[in-house]
This record gives sequence, C-alpha cells and structure tokens, in this order.
Amino acid sequence: MALVLGSSRSIRDRGERVSNAMDFRPTAEQALLKSTARKLAEECFRASAFKWKGEYPQANEKFLREQGFYGVSLPQEYGGGGLTLLEELLILEEVGRVCPDTASLLTLSGPPRIIAEIGSERLKRKYLPAFCHDGQKIGIAISEAEAGSAVTELRSKARVDGSKVVVDGGKIFISHAEVCATFLTFVKFDDGIGAVLIDRGAPGFQLGKPDINMAGHRQHSLFFDGCEIPAENILTHGKDAFKRLIQAFNAERCLSAAWAVSIALCAFDFAVEYARQRKQFGRRIGDFQGIQWMLAEMAMKIEAARLLAYQAAMEPTRLKSSMAKAMAGEMVEKVTSDALQIFGGYGYMREHPAEYLYRLARGRRIAGGTVEVQKNMVADELLRKGLNREE
Ligand SMILES: Cc1cc2nc3c(=O)[nH]c(=O)nc-3n(C[C@H](O)[C@H](O)[C@H](O)COP(=O)(O)OP(=O)(O)OC[C@H]3O[C@@H](n4cnc5c(N)ncnc54)[C@H](O)[C@@H]3O)c2cc1C
Repeated sequence: MALVLGSSRSIRDRGERVSNAMDFRPTAEQALLKSTARKLAEECFRASAFKWKGEYPQANEKFLREQGFYGVSLPQEYGGGGLTLLEELLILEEVGRVCPDTASLLTLSGPPRIIAEIGSERLKRKYLPAFCHDGQKIGIAISEAEAGSAVTELRSKARVDGSKVVVDGGKIFISHAEVCATFLTFVKFDDGIGAVLIDRGAPGFQLGKPDINMAGHRQHSLFFDGCEIPAENILTHGKDAFKRLIQAFNAERCLSAAWAVSIALCAFDFAVEYARQRKQFGRRIGDFQGIQWMLAEMAMKIEAARLLAYQAAMEPTRLKSSMAKAMAGEMVEKVTSDALQIFGGYGYMREHPAEYLYRLARGRRIAGGTVEVQKNMVADELLRKGLNREE
C-alpha cells in the first residue's frame, strides 16, 4: 500500500501530468456535432418517425447523405467524412433518439468500414465512394440455415476459377437486402473461411422471399447458384482471413450497441414525458416512487451501456466491443419494456411508439451475434488476459 501511495504522490508532484479528467465529456467539436445532428433529427425526422411501418426510410437516407451524415467515419479519400468512430456513434445516437428507423440506416456504414479496414485499394475505390455519395448500400451476409452462432460451420462455397470466383450456397435473415447493391458475403474457400463482395446483378445471384420479423421489417434469403463474380471481389481469404474479418467486425458491434442505446433513449424520453403528465389517484404518476425508481433504473442502465459503447468506439477491441454490444442488447430490452409499462394499457396497443420500440429492441439481443455469443467472447478474453490487465 505504501508503495502505491508513494508512487501516486510522486505522480502528483510532477504537477502538469495531474488531471482529474478521464474525459467523459464531449469536446467542443463533438458537442457541436451532437447538437447539429439533434437539430437535423428534430426538424427533419420527427414528423415521420414511427410511420415507416417496416418500409425503408428512403427519403431520410437521401437527406442524411446530402447533409454529409453518411459514412462519416470512412476515410475522406474514399468519400467519407474522416471523423472518428466515436463521433459517428454520437450522431447515430441523436438521430435514433428521434427516429430509430432512420438511425438504422447509419449502422449500414458497418460493412463499408470492413472494406476500408481490410479491402484492397481497388475494392475501396470501387465501393466506398459509391456508398458515401450514391447510397449504394452493402449488406452483410453471414447467417445460414445451419450456421447461425456457429459461423465456422457455414457451407456456402467459393471456388477460384482463373479470373473469376464461383459461389454456391445461400444465406438467411439478411437485413435491408432489398435496397442493397452488394453483399459482403462470408464463404468457405479451399483454404478456409473468407469473404467476397457479391453485386446484386451477378449471374447466379437471386434474392429470396423475405421473412417478416417481429418489428415488421423484411429479412431476405439470398441464393448463389454457380454465382460468378470477378476474382478482384475477394475481400479476404487464406490464412488468418477469418480472424481479420472478425476483428474488423468490432466496429460493427459498436455501431450496433449505439443503435440499441438510441432506441432506449427514445423510449426513455417518451416515458419521462408521460410520467410528468399522466395523473392517477389525483397525482402525476411520476410522483409515485414505483415509477421514479423505474425511471432511475432505466437511466442508469442507458448511461452504463452508453459509456461502454463510447469506450469501445475509442478502442474497438474484441473485449470492449463485445461487452458494449452484450450490455446494450440486454439493456434495451429492459428499458423499452419498462417504458411500455409506464404507459400502462396504452403502451401495449398497436400503433403506440412504446410497443414498436419494444418489438424493435427485442431483435438487438439476437442480430449480429447473440448476447450469449458476445458473452462467450468476453469470457474468453477475460480467462486469457483478466480484466483491465492489457495496459
Ligand atoms: C433483427 C435481425 C437482423 C439480422 N440481420 C442479419 C444480417 O443482416 N446478416 C446476417 O448474416 N444475419 C443476420 N441476422 C441473423 C443473426 O445474426 C442470427 O440470428 C444470430 O447470429 C443467431 O443465429 P441463429 O438465429 O441461427 O441462432 P442459433 O445460433 O441457433 O442460437 C440459438 C440460441 O442458442 C444460443 N447459443 C448458440 N450457441 C451458443 C453458445 N456457444 N453458448 C451459449 N448460447 C449459445 C444463442 O444465443 C440463441 O439463444 C439477423 C437476425 C436478426 C434477429
């Protein structure tokens, strides 16, 4: 103990290195970014929020792109905004707090980020400006009927044949597939799992019938029947390709966590407002301790998940991004459920924002790797390295 005190005193004696900030506050630029995103969301997305009914908010996407909010953390040389992942999260949070459906469009920068991180120069030039400027979206196609959590059991095969690659197999549950121009597709090569970029018009590609999920959104199957793509569309293959892909996925997990936080914030804002106004027993329901504690718990959970997401965005390691995604997935289900409870019977009725947010939130414990799988990864890291031992 003396040793610890001694060293901390000597650190203090060094004067200029002492700071009481591990700064949890946004910088002036980040605060401006947040307020700009909030203003844009309030002015442009508030009126149509909760009216999309499972449809893709195309008009809002165009608007986001025109305002420079699309691909904000992609490198500027490929048409992106050159901001940090953390800054992208801040924007996503403000947009989702007003309109979660519109914020889901911002999570679509996940696949282009993977191309930016591990793709060839040619693929970056081909796909990233098209995403940022023209809204050419890239879906992520991993899940198969027999390979969900167990991604390594996927069966879609890719065979290199001279200057082309032939893909056979299929995928399920693909989000936003009907509006995607390309699919970042996990496939098995002779030498292990890798990924290819399959354009929608490729010969042998077919979009299947959609399943409709609990929130009313369509999730499609994809079929590859001798599907031919140019060999240059191989994103990665060979030794360590799977490891590279999973690592590049960490940023996607941060975006997913931030979207969940934004859904929770949206539900929380509605619930607080209602608790201020709704009267029963001659008092505002917000005056009852039962409701007050519910609101306090909701806020504490949101704040904890939000900080984990910010931390992960600053350093998207496997441990931090899996922790953030697992925490946010569990948090958003509980917070939206409590928000619905605060609205009583009204919240349970179709067309009420609380019931939609609850249905939307439920998918967050499953999509992009379940909460259980995220916890497996967290535990694996902890058992190998311990917690906070990486410094
Ligand atoms: C809203 C939504 C959007 C989606 N979008 C896409 C998309 O765009 N692209 C895409 O490729 N996929 C997408 N998916 C699919 C999603 O990634 C899978 O559903 C998910 O990975 C789980 O796979 P599974 O459904 O086959 O469940 P399974 O893997 O069969 O799991 C069933 C249950 O067992 C648990 N489980 C499995 N293995 C373990 C383990 N080792 N330890 C503990 N528990 C375990 C799971 O957590 C789950 O509770 C989406 C899913 C949803 C709900």
